[in-house]
Amino acid sequence: MTNPDQSIILILGDQLSLNISSLRQGNKTNDIILMAEVAEETTYAAHHKKKFVLVFSAMRHFAEKLRKLGWTVDYVKLGDAGNSGTLEGEIARACDRHNTTNVFLTEPAEWRLREALKHIRTLEDTRFICSHATFNAWANTRKELRMEFFYRDMRKATNLLMNGDEPEGGKWNYDSENRNPAKQDLFTPQPPHFKPDQITQDVITLVQEKFKNNFGDLEPFWFATTAENAEIALTHFFEHVLPHFGETQDAMVEGEYFMHHSILSPYINIGLLNPLEVCRRVEQRYREGHVPLAAAEGFIRQIIGWREYIRGIYWLKMPDYVNVNALSAKRPLPDFYWTGKTQMNCVKQAVKQTKQEAYAHHIQRLMITGNFALLAGLDPKQVHEWYLAVYIDAFEWVELPNTIGMALHADGGLLGSKPYAASGNYINKMSNYCKSCSFNVKKRTEDDACPFNALYWDFIARHFERFRKNPRMAQTCHTYGKFDETEKQAIAKRAASFLDSQISGQY
Ligand SMILES: Cc1cc2nc3c(=O)[nH]c(=O)nc-3n(C[C@H](O)[C@H](O)[C@H](O)COP(=O)(O)OP(=O)(O)OC[C@H]3O[C@@H](n4cnc5c(N)ncnc54)[C@H](O)[C@@H]3O)c2cc1C
Repeated sequence: MTNPDQSIILILGDQLSLNISSLRQGNKTNDIILMAEVAEETTYAAHHKKKFVLVFSAMRHFAEKLRKLGWTVDYVKLGDAGNSGTLEGEIARACDRHNTTNVFLTEPAEWRLREALKHIRTLEDTRFICSHATFNAWANTRKELRMEFFYRDMRKATNLLMNGDEPEGGKWNYDSENRNPAKQDLFTPQPPHFKPDQITQDVITLVQEKFKNNFGDLEPFWFATTAENAEIALTHFFEHVLPHFGETQDAMVEGEYFMHHSILSPYINIGLLNPLEVCRRVEQRYREGHVPLAAAEGFIRQIIGWREYIRGIYWLKMPDYVNVNALSAKRPLPDFYWTGKTQMNCVKQAVKQTKQEAYAHHIQRLMITGNFALLAGLDPKQVHEWYLAVYIDAFEWVELPNTIGMALHADGGLLGSKPYAASGNYINKMSNYCKSCSFNVKKRTEDDACPFNALYWDFIARHFERFRKNPRMAQTCHTYGKFDETEKQAIAKRAASFLDSQISGQY
C-alpha cells in the first residue's frame, strides 16, 4: 500500500537552503528528503576538483543538518552499492524503497536537469528575486534587453537603496566612481580559510580516488561548506572588503587572487547564502554608515542586477543559446587554457590561479581569458565548456550567458551592446601583468609584440562591416580604416602567425 500523505522531496546539490520552496512545502513528519550524488552529474562537465569537494561536502553537511532538524533524509553517496548513476534512476529507486510515487522538487536551475526531470512536479525557486514570468514580461516590452534598465526595475521591486520612487543619492549607478587601476602597494584582505572537517576530508579522499585526472589542485581546500561558515565568510566580507568594493573592481595584480571581490558566488550559487538577504544586509551596512553608497550600490547591482538578469536571459533563450555563434568563431581552444603554458603572462597568471583555486575574478574571466577567446575567434562551445569546468561557482545558468553573451559576443549583441574586446593597452592599464611579460605591450606587429594588440586590430578587421554600424564601435573602426595598407597587412600577418603558433603549442 502506498502512503498518499508521504512524498519524496528531491534536493539538488545547488539547493542547500533551509528556506527553499520544496522544504517549505514539505511535511517533516511524513516526507522523505532524497539527496543523491550521481555519476551523471560528475561528468556533464570536466569539473575542477575543488568544485566536487564544495558540492559533495556541502550536500553531506546539509543532509546532517536536516536530520538534526527532524527530517528523514535518504542520502545516496557516489560509491554506494546500487547507485544507478542518474537522478532519474535514484528517484525510481527511492520510490521503490519508500513505497510512494509522490515526488516533488524546487525547479532545477539548469536546462539539462529541467529536461531530465520534467515529468516531476516542480515548485518555483523563490531564492531568485525575479520570476521567469516577470523577466519574460519585462523582455517582451523591450526592444533591447539592457541590464541597466532591468536593474532599475529590480531596485524598485525590492525597494533596495530607494527613497520612495527615487534611487538613494539621486543616481542609479555609481560605477563611474569605481574601476581604478591597481596600485602597486594595494593591500587586499584574504577570504577566510576553513579547515576541512571529517566530512570534507572524506570527500577530498573520494575526489582524490575518483577524479584524480580532473583539472585543478585539490588541496589546500579552504572554502566554506556549511551555511554557518559561509556566514563567517560573509561577515568577513562586510568588515574587510565591502567598504572598498568596486574601487578596484577591474584591477588585476600578479599574485593577488581575490583583490576586493567578495568570493561569495560559490556560496550563493549552491544555496548556503540567500542573495536577497545578503543585499538587505549590505543596504543596512550602508544605512548604518559602515560603507559608502558607491560600494553598497555596486555590490547590490551585481546581485539583483547582473545575477538576476543573466538568469533571465538564460531561461529566455535556452535551449538554442548554447549553439549561438554570431561571429562564426571556429578556432579550437588552445591547450594553454588547461596547462597555463603560454608566454602571455596575463593568461598564464589567470590560468594558474584558476587551477590552484578554481577562482578568478570577473575581469580576469572577462578581459583576459574571455578577451583572448573573443579576439582569437575560439569556438564558443569549447570556451563555454572550459568555463563550466574550471570555476567553483560554475553552473550553466550563470556561466553560459556570461561566456557566450558577455565575453564572446556570440549572441550577436543580445546581452552586450558592444563586444568586450581590448588590446594589451587595457591589460597594461588595469594590471601589472605586462611588467613581467616577455612580450612588449607597446608594440603591435613585431615578433615580440603583445599578441593582444595585433589580435585586437585583426578582430576589428575581420568584423569591420558588422561593427562599423555599431555606434559604440564606429570610432574604433574609423581608426582602423585610417591605418595604411602596410600596417593592415602587418597586423593580419602577426595575428595569423601568432594564432598558428599557439595552436601548435609554440607559445
Ligand atoms: C566568462 C565568464 C564566466 C563566468 N562564469 C560564472 C559562473 O560560472 N558562475 C558565476 O557565479 N559567475 C560567473 N561569472 C560572473 C562573475 O565573474 C562571477 O560571479 C564572480 O567573478 C564571482 O566572484 P565573486 O563572488 O568574488 O564576485 P564579486 O565580484 O564579489 O561580485 C559579487 C557577486 O555578484 C554576482 N555577480 C557579479 N557579476 C556577475 C555576473 N556577471 N553574472 C552573475 N552574477 C554576477 C555574484 O553572485 C558575485 O558573488 C562569469 C563571468 C564571465 C565573464
